[in-house]
Amino acid sequence: KFIVFEGIDGAGKTTQVVLLAEYLAKIGRPFVRSKEPTDGQWGRLLRQSAATGRLSLGEELDLLTRDRQEHVTQLINPALDRGDVVILDRYFYSTIAYQGSRGGDVEEITDRMATRFPIPDVVFLIDVPAEVGIARIKEGRGEAPNAFEQLDTLRAVREVFLNQVARHANIVLLDGSRDIKTLHEQILQIVNERCLA
Ligand code: C5P
Ligand code: MG
Repeated sequence: KFIVFEGIDGAGKTTQVVLLAEYLAKIGRPFVRSKEPTDGQWGRLLRQSAATGRLSLGEELDLLTRDRQEHVTQLINPALDRGDVVILDRYFYSTIAYQGSRGGDVEEITDRMATRFPIPDVVFLIDVPAEVGIARIKEGRGEAPNAFEQLDTLRAVREVFLNQVARHANIVLLDGSRDIKTLHEQILQIVNERCLA
């Protein structure tokens, strides 16, 4: 089973990924937890660009696709083949939302991703307003948001994310302004119904 967490920066994806991983460990269900962009060579270049200045849209799409191809081949597909649960912090819905919101063709990106890469069983879209995301980044890190994490950018990204809900049957929209425990319980209920039954 393949479970993905999506949402803008500061939505609380990583917090919920950690809680779900702890639950699976507790019940003894084999799982693999990972994230995109990865810490591999392509993902690192993308992350570095937050500090060094943003790349062009084409360069970002190219790096993200190479990174994902490597991730799917080396980690995701082998884990799914073994029957492990795979939990990801971001996947191709982030590419649709982030690169789509900066001018990429949403239809084209969606088609390319969905034909090339495995489709998750569930995608939890943790939704918060951009203001909340930015505020949480500042609180959590005690430093200014990076080049990716700007209010107008995150507003546009959020809008594309929300547009995806009606278009993908696997996306579950969650209110990320609820408290951590309530959200976790909501996630567990859906995971138990759809992925662990
Ligand atoms: O999830 P995390 O915050 O670690 O992602 C690293 C950064 O890469 C984020 O700040 C996000 O804005 C950016 N990103 C992006 N396009 C993607 C995925 C992530 O610009 N498709
Ligand atoms: Mg972030």
